[in-house]
Amino acid sequence: MKPDKRDMYDVIIVGGGVGGLINANLLASKGWQVILFEKKSYPFHRVCGEYVSNEVVSFLKQTGCYPEELYPAQITRFQLTSTNGKSAEIPLDLGGFGISRYSFDPFLAAQASSRGAEIIENASVQHIQFIKDYFEVKLSKDAVYRSRVVIGAFGKRSNLDSFLNRRFFKKRSPYIGVKYHIRGDFDNNLICLHNFHGGYCGISKIEDDTFNLCYLSLRAPLKKLGTVHKLEEEILMQNPFLYHIFNTATFVFDKPVVINEISFATKDPVCDHILMSGDAAGMITPLCGNGMAMAIHSAAILSEQVHRFLSGQTNRSDLEYRYSLLWRNKFGLRLLVGRQIQNLFGTSVLSNLAVSLIKKSGSLSEWIMKQTHGKSF
Ligand SMILES: Cc1cc2nc3c(=O)[nH]c(=O)nc-3n(C[C@H](O)[C@H](O)[C@H](O)COP(=O)(O)OP(=O)(O)OC[C@H]3O[C@@H](n4cnc5c(N)ncnc54)[C@H](O)[C@@H]3O)c2cc1C
Repeated sequence: MKPDKRDMYDVIIVGGGVGGLINANLLASKGWQVILFEKKSYPFHRVCGEYVSNEVVSFLKQTGCYPEELYPAQITRFQLTSTNGKSAEIPLDLGGFGISRYSFDPFLAAQASSRGAEIIENASVQHIQFIKDYFEVKLSKDAVYRSRVVIGAFGKRSNLDSFLNRRFFKKRSPYIGVKYHIRGDFDNNLICLHNFHGGYCGISKIEDDTFNLCYLSLRAPLKKLGTVHKLEEEILMQNPFLYHIFNTATFVFDKPVVINEISFATKDPVCDHILMSGDAAGMITPLCGNGMAMAIHSAAILSEQVHRFLSGQTNRSDLEYRYSLLWRNKFGLRLLVGRQIQNLFGTSVLSNLAVSLIKKSGSLSEWIMKQTHGKSF
């Protein structure tokens, strides 16, 4: 029996990070009935460098999603240091703004609610099933929701990737991510990327008088040394810049936020008719500093296509085909370049080479940055 239309949402969004929340804002603004499930409760900290590329600023302003009232930091310059402390600095072409996810995500959730989207927190989706022309989304045996469209915005790794049997989920990834908020006498407009053996650490200003310190490291040295603290002492602090930061900063959290299994493998933007957005569709290496911008841009593209489908301008197979094509055209090359650049990081020889390249040829560095960033939209 076909379910009653009154029980049917237009769109169910699974995951309330930037990708899911921008989709919720855009689709609710167009008048569609949207419900978003987020397994955690706002506000919460996530492992993220919290630097947002300015390529999305005009879009965020036009859609009322720019967090002006939270006073984001303005970042205009970039510094790269090698594992042994050689350093180069260049101005950023586009630059970016710094804002904690602790503030930005609830801000976007509140905007989406004010536009009519239902935002349900502490709600972990367990199953998604496509039945003929609609979806059933299950949180538990008694909590089943139906919709015409499901957007999967559940981030880089979720229980749903396992449920959907996605290929990347079976391969182990060698990376961990660690984040702190710190205070100290650091440059407000500079984003730094400090190399260390097996990884790199970003530092940049966010709101108030706080800075984000976030690093990506291979898991193997952590396993060998036993604790994050030992990893920092014995590996990160070999870079003199990191030694200085770790020894002079005030750490705001009692302990770091840590995640495991960060995969940069390719994924499909559509899986079992679920339209993936943000990291669930594909994740760019963090050193490019624009995963959030990509999640926002992918949500802008997707919600436009979903609007066309819901208003009868296209059918489901066209929607899926077109979105996959648009996604790959927009982001495929960026992801590839990001993966290649990441190979230049985390070793002494290559990180020194990268610093020399930046020093010798500013225009080459600008060209590389352009390949990993999109145009302002
Ligand atoms: C070390 C590191 C540093 C980074 N630094 C930067 C940076 O400086 N700038 C930048 O732009 N990007 C950075 N990124 C990337 C950025 O964090 C991501 O690209 C961005 O968060 C993607 O947003 P999203 O909405 O796709 O996913 P997320 O923000 O991860 O949101 C996904 C949400 O889905 C929820 N969820 C998962 N499963 C379920 C379920 N079953 N039911 C309900 N909810 C569910 C999760 O709780 C989560 O809230 C970094 C990433 C890493 C790992």
